[in-house]
Amino acid sequence: MKLIILGAPGSGKGTSATYLREKYNLAHISTGDIFRANIKGGTPLGVEAKSYIDKGLLVPDSLTVSMVEDRLSQDDCNKGYILDGFPRTIAQAQALDEMLAKKGESIDAVLSIIVDDETIKGRVSGRRVCEKCGESYNVTFRPTKVEGVCDSCGGNVVQRDDDKPETVEARLKTYYANTQPLIDFYDKKGIIIEGDNNKDPEICRSQIEEGLKARGLI
Ligand code: AMP
Repeated sequence: MKLIILGAPGSGKGTSATYLREKYNLAHISTGDIFRANIKGGTPLGVEAKSYIDKGLLVPDSLTVSMVEDRLSQDDCNKGYILDGFPRTIAQAQALDEMLAKKGESIDAVLSIIVDDETIKGRVSGRRVCEKCGESYNVTFRPTKVEGVCDSCGGNVVQRDDDKPETVEARLKTYYANTQPLIDFYDKKGIIIEGDNNKDPEICRSQIEEGLKARGLI
C-alpha cells in the first residue's frame, strides 16, 4: 500500500509512521530525514535546504519533488511505502499524482493526524532526537534512560535546531498556510483517514488501523 501521513510539526506523524513501517513492512520516506542526512553530509542539496529549514520555511518544490521522485524509484519502495512530511504543498501533491500516474499508480490513503496547537507547542519544545539513528524522544513524555544518550544506539540525543521556540512558530505558520489545504485536496478524493493524537497514541493508531481495514488495505 502507498500511504501519506499528514500533520503539523510535532503531531507525532514520525512516530506513527515508524509504527506502521514496522508492522506492515513499508518503506518509510521522511523528507525531513533525507534533508537532515544531506545537511550532515554537507552535500549541495543539504547546503541549500539548510537555509530554508533553519528559518522554518519550506525547501522549494522543485528540489523536494525531484528528491522524492528519485527516492521512490529505489527498489525498497516496491513493497509499499509511507510518505512522511511529503507532500507539503498543493504543487507537491499534484507533482506526486503525476509521477505516480506515469506508472499507473496512486496513493491508497492519507492519514491525517490531529493535534491541538497548544499541545503541539509543548511537545515540540520537549522533543529530542538522536543525531545518529534519528530515534525521537521527549523530555517529559519519553525521556532517554541516560540523559543525552540514545536508548537504542548510544548516539547523542539533542534538540533539533528547528525545534527551538522561535522556529516552531514559523513552522506552524508555514504548516497552516501551505500544508493544511492538502487535507481538503485529499478529502475530495475520499482517501483521508483521521487519527486523533491529542491524548493517547494508541487511540490514534487504532483509528488509523480501523480506517485501513475499512478500505481493505490491511
Ligand atoms: P520535518 O522533519 O518533516 O519536520 O521537516 C523538517 C524541515 O524540512 C521542514 O520544516 C522543512 O523546512 C523541510 N521539509 C521537509 N519536508 C519538506 C517538503 N515536503 N517540502 C519542503 N520542505 C520540506
